[in-house]
Amino acid sequence: MIAYLVERCLPENDAADSPPEHPNEDAINLGLEDLQGTVEYGSASSNAFAAKDFGGLHAVKPLAVVRPAVADDVARVIRVALRSPALTVAARGNGHSINGQAMAHRGVVVDMKSLAGIAVVRDCSKSGGPVVEVGGGALWSDVLKRCVLGYGLAPRSWTDYLDLTVGGTLSNAGVSGQAFRFGPQTANVTELEVVTGNGEITVCSHTNNSELFFSVLGGLGQFGIITRARVLLQPAPDMVRWIRLVYSNFTDYMLDAESLVTRDSSFDYVEGFVFVNSDDPVNGWPSVLFDPQHQFDTTCMSKNVDPVLYCLEVALYYKSDDPPSTVDKMVEKLIEGLRYCQNLKLQMDLSYMDFLLRVKKAEQDAKANGIWDAPHPWLNLFVSKKDIADFDRLVFKKLLKDGVGGPMLVYPLIRSKWDNRTSVVLPEGEIFYLVALLRFSHQYPNGPPVQELAAQNREIVQCCIRNGFSFKLYLPHYNSKEEWKHHFGNQWPRFVERKSTFDPMAILAPGQKIFTRNQQQP
Ligand code: FAD
Repeated sequence: MIAYLVERCLPENDAADSPPEHPNEDAINLGLEDLQGTVEYGSASSNAFAAKDFGGLHAVKPLAVVRPAVADDVARVIRVALRSPALTVAARGNGHSINGQAMAHRGVVVDMKSLAGIAVVRDCSKSGGPVVEVGGGALWSDVLKRCVLGYGLAPRSWTDYLDLTVGGTLSNAGVSGQAFRFGPQTANVTELEVVTGNGEITVCSHTNNSELFFSVLGGLGQFGIITRARVLLQPAPDMVRWIRLVYSNFTDYMLDAESLVTRDSSFDYVEGFVFVNSDDPVNGWPSVLFDPQHQFDTTCMSKNVDPVLYCLEVALYYKSDDPPSTVDKMVEKLIEGLRYCQNLKLQMDLSYMDFLLRVKKAEQDAKANGIWDAPHPWLNLFVSKKDIADFDRLVFKKLLKDGVGGPMLVYPLIRSKWDNRTSVVLPEGEIFYLVALLRFSHQYPNGPPVQELAAQNREIVQCCIRNGFSFKLYLPHYNSKEEWKHHFGNQWPRFVERKSTFDPMAILAPGQKIFTRNQQQP
């Protein structure tokens, strides 16, 4: 039932190498010359980016790339597609998908980064507080800089890495260590402007065109293209105390992580990860060092512990004029009673901006040594709390005991912080875990072939199925409608109904492979 996560790997089956169906693609003209933005056809060299994504596993060449200047440009593209027999349209955020989700084979890719305006509204009585109005193609890193530096304000819920677009993460969920308190990013927007698959520009919110609003959030780009979002803000802190606590035992790790995400008074950020109990600089002990000045005293760790260890990652926000002793006391109170290995605590203080931009440094390092551009067969799952201990036993301790060449995140989230009217589907229970296997091919091209890593992903998914775990893929990828039906479960009829209302010709986001372009006029 579950899809092969990597359908086709480069270079063997590169769709970009397949013969063109049209003898001269550059001659095709879609009648989009009167856009306020730009359109480039076929083999224009500036279009090459639209055939690739971060995953590096697929290559799908579009017919044209449109860079809209206004929402009306997006509507015009969709109306052109509505009049054609087979044309599809894919919004592309920053192309950080893994499996070609933002691609359109012989369709139009709309490069949303050209709709990236950011405007802070300090007093918005309708939203009950300050908000930022952002273009669907704005990068979260730019939203951060604009809000914090210009206004001392910040969105409440983030992703770990911020060079992702607002429309791209809202189409999935957008999760990080703040989600236990504020819910995912989809729970932190109050209004959207959307161009539907019917070519209509519609403003929607909880109360106005609410069915469209909730459809689009977590909607995998299936119902409309987000051209503007209104995001809730709060006062930004100045500083962050960032703490890592190491555990040798999953039960202790799980109990502490769950206690932190469910108590009233807690840290402002709670995440965690698994690492290999070895000296491997990529998967093991050394990978945990986040500040070279802070060394572990590993002598306190028994040599007989399990093949993997766990690291709880928490952060407390504070103001720069808070006395250090006050921050120390608050931290002490919050970690009191936690069951981590007492000598394995690391902490550092950094600015709020540096904390939120922490993955940028990792990106720069990865780019410098070539692994950023290598293929990334990543796997993201939501696993129910009821099955996470078995997942640890069977997957982390056995299948992944040697690591994945990058972070293996595992941390709890709270279902009631997610709005069940959105299109996201979750596993059973009030508490579920995000599991993110962020593989980097460190030895690429000489390390394990990408196909082997993808096969391991399939094995993990099969292990979850075999053992009856309650789980859902996050940033899902399937190849057949049957698999999608299974993924959505009892939410499938609602998803199909939403599609028939907002994109009845199935023009949008063909790279998700959920629906086939409908050639009949509805
Ligand atoms: P794209 O990959 O370009 O698009 C994704 C999908 O959304 C496509 O189907 C596309 O058609 C659709 N889409 C794009 N823009 C719009 C729009 N404006 N309107 C409607 N549909 C649209 N996710 C997390 O939740 N938390 C993390 O911490 C996190 N960290 C990440 C770190 C890295 C290094 C990477 C590569 C990914 C990470 N992700 C994380 C995953 C990320 O949220 C998704 O890959 C997201 O889809 C990427 O956003 P993007 O802007 O690049 O979208």
